[in-house]
Amino acid sequence: MPEKKEKVYSYSRLTTFEQCNLKFKFRYIDKIIPKLEKSIEAHLGSTVHSTLEWLYTQVKEGRIPSLDEVIIFYSQEWEKYYTPDFITQNSLTHQDYFNKGVEFIIVYYTEHKPFDDNTLEIEKRILIDLDEEGNYKIQGFIDRLSYNLKTKEYEIHDYKTANYPPSEEKMHKDRQLALYSIAIKNHYGKDKDVKLTWHFLAFNKRFHIKKSNDDLEKLKKETLELIKKIEETKEFPANKSKLCNWCEYKDMCPAWGNSPDSLKDLQKPKEDLDKYPTLSKYIKEEKLDEE
Ligand code: SF4
Repeated sequence: MPEKKEKVYSYSRLTTFEQCNLKFKFRYIDKIIPKLEKSIEAHLGSTVHSTLEWLYTQVKEGRIPSLDEVIIFYSQEWEKYYTPDFITQNSLTHQDYFNKGVEFIIVYYTEHKPFDDNTLEIEKRILIDLDEEGNYKIQGFIDRLSYNLKTKEYEIHDYKTANYPPSEEKMHKDRQLALYSIAIKNHYGKDKDVKLTWHFLAFNKRFHIKKSNDDLEKLKKETLELIKKIEETKEFPANKSKLCNWCEYKDMCPAWGNSPDSLKDLQKPKEDLDKYPTLSKYIKEEKLDEE
């Protein structure tokens, strides 16, 4: 009997399809590697994420780094992957973005020191079965997972560096952390409470929600329906929107009067992705797809 091949989807694969079918085709079907990850916002986001990851790893190992050390780490990470080619969509300079990151770190550090909310995992990989047979799975990474010994709650933390926070309605509809909470409940018990927490670093604000088991079952069903829809899709039209300004395929997008270069040239080996640190989660997800 032929071996059953399970299908593993990432959250970004689903959202890319919903954002623009053509972008989905470029990235996941044609496997076009973007020439350059251009956004300074993305660079800021990934540098702040890796700094907080480093901070909590140190704390887990029993050492609280000083604020100076954390800022030095941030500066080194910034430099390591910085290129003057990063573009910005507004009048801010690259130095302004660097400074923003320093500010985020200072405020976060001051507010959360001594970081004693019982961190269990950092950058935890999760994998969830969407159907009984285990044919369809979702995988992703949790920025940080903690367990509150007083309230007996697990908490999934997600860091955001965007300038504009989404509306409360959008947060309630957000699929990513809710899906990740299924993995936590599968591991620790369905009866456990899991809090979803977004840290909006630019506003020093936190937003929390909890999902019931019924909400999560419904979400699994909807996600599976979306995957089936993706698999049945034969046409991949462009969907022009303001998000195009952050699309790494804009310079080859016909909707903007551009045309793709030779696909062959662009379908480089996957190792080339390592040149694009700000696509780190995508890189990890793609590599895991191959496991
Ligand atoms: S630039 Fe816009 S329309 Fe074109 S692929 Fe990207 S998201 Fe789609």
